[in-house]
Amino acid sequence: MRGFTVPLYTFKCPAGDQFDAHFSMAEVPAAVDCPDCTQPARRIITGVRLAQTNSSAYQLLDSTKRSAHEPDVVTGLPAKPRSGPQPVTTNPLHQKLPKP
Ligand SMILES: [Zn+2]
Repeated sequence: MRGFTVPLYTFKCPAGDQFDAHFSMAEVPAAVDCPDCTQPARRIITGVRLAQTNSSAYQLLDSTKRSAHEPDVVTGLPAKPRSGPQPVTTNPLHQKLPKP
């Protein structure tokens, strides 16, 4: 399985039924059997959807954005300044943990 959303393709059969199906870009067939009449339904090229999902530049941008944000998430936890001895349970995050 891949980490990103599988593109959605639209098919239309000779009887006029139209339906959507998910395929990876490498596996999408030119035609699939219609679920209603079992005739071969041909894939319709939908420019808008393909423009969103078929762009490698978009995926590169997405992964770049993610890798830039992850370090902030990991190191972004607020560090409580310690002012003298404190009980361990004053941290609200610790109170959500199950008691031993
Ligand atoms: Zn059909």
